[in-house]
Amino acid sequence: MGIRKIDQQLCTGCRICVDHCPMDVIRMDEEIDKAYIAHLSDCQLCLICETDCPEKAIYVSPDRERRVPLPW
Ligand code: SF4
Ligand code: SF4
Repeated sequence: MGIRKIDQQLCTGCRICVDHCPMDVIRMDEEIDKAYIAHLSDCQLCLICETDCPEKAIYVSPDRERRVPLPW
């Protein structure tokens, strides 16, 4: 499991999640100016995106006991 959802209704396209995700999981849909999950399998459950999104638009899996340590 990893990042589960980006709520398109709440997303304002600020790009913070895109810039902060260390695994490049999230990208911007430039046509609608919303973030989307581009590479789900790369998500490391670090929770940075969920924590940093000012609109609380991102939901990461609650399966946090299996959180994988980042390599840095
Ligand atoms: S941080 Fe939140 S509001 Fe900003 S682009 Fe990402 S999902 Fe959208
Ligand atoms: S939990 Fe971490 S690795 Fe996964 S999408 Fe969010 S910032 Fe990226």
